[in-house]
Amino acid sequence: MADIIQLLPDHVANQIAAGEVVQRPASVVKELLENAIDAGATTIKLIIKDAGKTLIQVIDDGKGMSDTDARLSFERHATSKIRSADDLFQLHTKGFRGEALASIAAIAHVELKTKQAQDEIGTCIVIEGSKVVSQEVIVTPKGTSISVKNLFFNIPARRNFLKSNPVETRHIIDEFHRVSLAHPSICFSCFHNGSEQFNLPISNYRQRIVAIFGSKTNEKLVPVEESTEVVKISGFVGKPEYAKKSRGEQFFFVNNRFIKSAYLNHAISSAFEGLLKEGAHASYFLNLTVNPQTIDINIHPTKTEIKFDDEHTLYAILRASVKHSLGQFNIAPVLDFERDSNLDTPYNYKQKATPSIAVDSGFNPFKEDEKTVPHTASNYKKAPAATWESLYVGLESKSTKSKTDFDEVHFESEPETTSVFNDSKAIEEKQPTYQLHNKYIISTIKSGMLVINQKRAHQRILYEDFLQHITVKEGVSQQLLFPLSLPFSQQELEIIRQLKNDLEHTGFVFNLLKDEVLEISGVPVSVPESEVAIILEQLIADVQNEVPDSHFSATDLLAKSMAKSLAIKTGQSLSKEEQEHLVNRLFACKAPSVSPTNRLTFITMSIDELEKKFV
Ligand code: ADP
Ligand code: MG
Repeated sequence: MADIIQLLPDHVANQIAAGEVVQRPASVVKELLENAIDAGATTIKLIIKDAGKTLIQVIDDGKGMSDTDARLSFERHATSKIRSADDLFQLHTKGFRGEALASIAAIAHVELKTKQAQDEIGTCIVIEGSKVVSQEVIVTPKGTSISVKNLFFNIPARRNFLKSNPVETRHIIDEFHRVSLAHPSICFSCFHNGSEQFNLPISNYRQRIVAIFGSKTNEKLVPVEESTEVVKISGFVGKPEYAKKSRGEQFFFVNNRFIKSAYLNHAISSAFEGLLKEGAHASYFLNLTVNPQTIDINIHPTKTEIKFDDEHTLYAILRASVKHSLGQFNIAPVLDFERDSNLDTPYNYKQKATPSIAVDSGFNPFKEDEKTVPHTASNYKKAPAATWESLYVGLESKSTKSKTDFDEVHFESEPETTSVFNDSKAIEEKQPTYQLHNKYIISTIKSGMLVINQKRAHQRILYEDFLQHITVKEGVSQQLLFPLSLPFSQQELEIIRQLKNDLEHTGFVFNLLKDEVLEISGVPVSVPESEVAIILEQLIADVQNEVPDSHFSATDLLAKSMAKSLAIKTGQSLSKEEQEHLVNRLFACKAPSVSPTNRLTFITMSIDELEKKFV
């Protein structure tokens, strides 16, 4: 049989390599920023248009390239950074594989302008899909400027695969954060669609963190310093009381390179053990310096994973030094379960409270300040659902509310529920309910038994309420006597800005102030003032963590997030009336059978099924 194996042409090989190196615009940003750092730049400017889909440009004042090097830089395996395989274990540069520029040029329109300090004139090369279109001499400042236009122009499948602009922008900003955090001694700026997003002057590490994440970050940082033979650790961890629901601010740098490591992350979490509220994540900004011979960076094309020779020792040292810092800065003792932390404390945990933990047992996280809830007749008419909600949310197990409140509420929900009662699954009127393990509500239906998951059911109810308010735009707002001022980072404010209209339809009234402060002068009637910060933080975390697909809808996400924040939790004991109302409200929903995240809200068991079990 004839020979069938051939060497692939370079442009095909480059496109294949690009598949690994360039997943999205943010990958290009990372490679270009790293090249600028390797070139010894002191000032680096990143310019983005349309989330990098139209343009990604990086301008540096580094050492530039000769005209021959400029041409060679686009060849695969062309690098000035290593010469032999041994050099792989002596790396002092970000790059070394010599494939980034070749890969990028294979799948985009690239223009390179570069000049070395000693030269009078520079070089301009234009490459499109691996083909050199032109190479000319030009007048250009010292350093390099690379523009990458129309990414994936020749791979429509990849281009279509790109996410929405906000999502791709977020990935780019994440890369920008990582690179600029690792190099506070370099001045970085970032422009998106003509407006300046970041301008980070040369500074120390603390100042760099604050410049990126906002001035309020400063007080949250606890320094960590440790020097051993194996590793030198420096940086900061966030005080536990500022821990967030999102994993956003977690950064490890090994020899100035951002890396991901679930294992080392675990070392930090375990150092924080007992100090964090449930579901909260510690933030950290830690630089580890190790002997380059003890790590292997060449295990992943994007170089974000590293193999350490002795991971176990590293784990132990890291954990101990973070613990030490938290102790030394007196973080652990001052941490008390203050009122607000109850908001996230499961019911069972409260029961286990030891004398040293100050738990206000009478405190109900869902109880609002009654003065702030307008229980007036006019409000009932205007927004029955919201008002119902505010009453519901305000109820506690040892309810002190008068029966009349309930009678009114019951009356409100009746018209919606009656039609559902014809359904065989509907609750027979005046059937008893029973709460099981503070988690399920059990009731009867004509054909048998109904078991409702209280948390999911309430999420469904709130979700439909919020969706309705946002789309009908009729959310009722309660004016706050004193506006709340909440600190947020630029990036977080940007997310709020995107959701502003929808949030206002639920009843929020905002004033977006400069200087990273959000002023809130009105909140939805169903939202207790004490929970506003938590709800917004959860919302931001949800937006950041969302893995958006083509069905991504900000409105939906907002309704889901608020429903999640405000819904009663597993572990909350409910009075008979509360149980009944939950059941009634659930079956008045459009899609009662699933939670907003598509999980079952209830199951049924027929008499037949029961009988089979007793055979
Ligand atoms: P690597 O960074 O792995 O060496 P790249 O494809 O990213 O591979 O770059 C190839 C070469 O081009 C680099 O080794 C470097 O010599 C040169 N180069 C790339 N970007 C720049 C820049 N901004 N300034 C100076 N030289 C650069
Ligand atoms: Mg490179």
